Amino acid sequence: MTTLNPTLQPIFEEILARNPGEAEFHQATKELLESLDPVVRRHPEYTDAEIIRRICEPERQIIFRVPWVDDAGRVQLNRGFRVEFNSALGPYKGGLRFHPSVYLGIVKFLGFEQIFKNALTGMPIGGGKGGSDFDPKGRSDAEVMRFCQSFMTELYRHIGEYTDVPAGDIGVGGREIGYMFGQYKRITNRYESGVLTGKGIGWGGSLVRTEATGYGTVFFASEILKSRGTSFEGKTVVVSGSGNVAIYAAEKAAALGATVVACSDSSGYVVDQDGLDLDLLKEVKEVRRERISVYAEERGAPARFIAGGSVWDVPCDIALPCATQNELDGDAAATLVRNGCTVVAEGANMPCTPDAVRVLSQAGVAFAPGKAANAGGVATSALEMQQNASRDSWSFVHTEERLEEIMVGIHQRCLETAEEYGAPGNYVAGANIAGFIQVADAMLALGVI
Ligand code: GLU
Repeated sequence: MTTLNPTLQPIFEEILARNPGEAEFHQATKELLESLDPVVRRHPEYTDAEIIRRICEPERQIIFRVPWVDDAGRVQLNRGFRVEFNSALGPYKGGLRFHPSVYLGIVKFLGFEQIFKNALTGMPIGGGKGGSDFDPKGRSDAEVMRFCQSFMTELYRHIGEYTDVPAGDIGVGGREIGYMFGQYKRITNRYESGVLTGKGIGWGGSLVRTEATGYGTVFFASEILKSRGTSFEGKTVVVSGSGNVAIYAAEKAAALGATVVACSDSSGYVVDQDGLDLDLLKEVKEVRRERISVYAEERGAPARFIAGGSVWDVPCDIALPCATQNELDGDAAATLVRNGCTVVAEGANMPCTPDAVRVLSQAGVAFAPGKAANAGGVATSALEMQQNASRDSWSFVHTEERLEEIMVGIHQRCLETAEEYGAPGNYVAGANIAGFIQVADAMLALGVI
């Protein structure tokens, strides 16, 4: 366990004491603080104004009851969260996650990451996150609708185009955003398109938003490869997960000439050495909402499903963890290194454990943290907000170009900042420092609030 510098260590101990039991939040704050040593040395003004302590404390945390009635007529109860973490750069912005693992510590880690990710996009958006321990798996459309309506019946009073703009995350896609937007519109009697992002194309959504997180991750990885004199062409790629991020990361990697040979879900993984059939994968996962084993059955040989186990056992040149936090540990990282993997870019939020990051870095594997590599989703949400504000809708090509420009910009900024602060080539340091400084300077300017 590394000890932080004398300014930062007591701050971290205070975080541990004030946020007991929130392991993921501790992990995310520690990872940021570990990068800030050269920053606090160079900028005593941040310490004087207690910027670091303030940035680690959410501006507002909302926890609420979400009662709803299931198809059998039974009353169900869930807990809803919205953590409005930092609004120095703009309205709180970040997704909603519906998953049984959701509790305050998960929402706070995600909201904390979101602050710096959003800053890196260069768009005027603050950081927030929310969700519920509701499990949409196995629920009917009608149950999901009733849950979303109940959730929004409380959330609506806290959000707004200029206040807080939620979007999707795990368990929240176009269907859920639709039900929540409908309920918001009904309660407020306002067609306020800019209150949520990830909307459907016919009712205020943006083209490319669906693809953006996955495409953006691949654009970022592609910049890493370029800086090393190579590209996706002819490379073998493994993605984890098979949700929105994984599917579109696989699609863009394949479009750039790679073969994507594996993906996973919580039941196991699929290996398909011919390259994943993405139309079939979309049909199975997005339309029919079935398990990944169904993909292997319908695709036939050589595709096969392996129950349980780790998708990271499949040899690859480039690994894109796109499932969930802490899904790739030190052992998996060692396997990737042994199999010759050279680039790991996080499509999910914090999928690599601190051990994994250490193993990869020591082996010289280029490692892109989620707050940089997966920022394309929220960046395109900000583009959706721009279109809503100007009552306009842009073409797919134009929007994708904007996304790519943003990802190229983030990559550049990470490298330049890492270099400037004495950690050349270190994307973790570059992303943490560049994101932090942007928010810290705004906080300094706005006074003690
Ligand atoms: N949930 C996504 C993320 O982790 C997107 C958030 C958004 O579009 O606001 O960045």
